[in-house]
Amino acid sequence: MASEKPLRLFFALGCPPALADNICSWRDSLPLAGRPVAKDNLHLTLAFLGSQPTTALDGFKDLGDQLRGTSFYLRLDQVQTIGNGFLCLTPGLPPPPLLQLVDNLRTGLSSLGMVPDSRPFLPHVTLAREAVMHQPHFASEAFEWRVNGYGLFRSENTESGVRYDELVHWPLAATSG
Ligand code: ATP
Ligand code: MG
Repeated sequence: MASEKPLRLFFALGCPPALADNICSWRDSLPLAGRPVAKDNLHLTLAFLGSQPTTALDGFKDLGDQLRGTSFYLRLDQVQTIGNGFLCLTPGLPPPPLLQLVDNLRTGLSSLGMVPDSRPFLPHVTLAREAVMHQPHFASEAFEWRVNGYGLFRSENTESGVRYDELVHWPLAATSG
């Protein structure tokens, strides 16, 4: 029997379609060079898992099943370039439940034997690659994202570019008040 191909996996928040429409309309109105990210691909990565054997999937699913997070509002109100020309939207003030979720994922991943990313978590939604911006950091229009859940995603390179599929989705509990 042919062995199954490894999967390129990450935990992320998938951007709701209506919000992705708004963000992309605004982005496309900016005088930016670069390769825009497809609207369906807007997301915020929580933890990157890299290439994993299919046998590792159950452990990641169990981890998501066990985590208890709460829903939150994410206000994306800054634009910055990260690394090599990645133009990103970022929250000026990352909400504590987002940071808690990432902490819990990192702890859970360590207990699965993975070495968590040692870099501090930098929440961002990539809007374009190879972008050139004259100002490295500026306030953008503010986008409000009500985050009600997160998922485990598979990334695949296809002829029409990279594509992400949400393999499992977990809701985040609503807070009272
Ligand atoms: P491509 O690499 O094909 O240009 P991509 O970067 O969107 O497309 P992936 O490389 O599969 O797709 O990455 C999926 C998500 O994980 C993206 O949000 C990416 O920024 C993030 N990511 C990729 N590599 C790492 C890494 N080494 N550390 C942290 N996050 C990463
Ligand atoms: Mg990549």
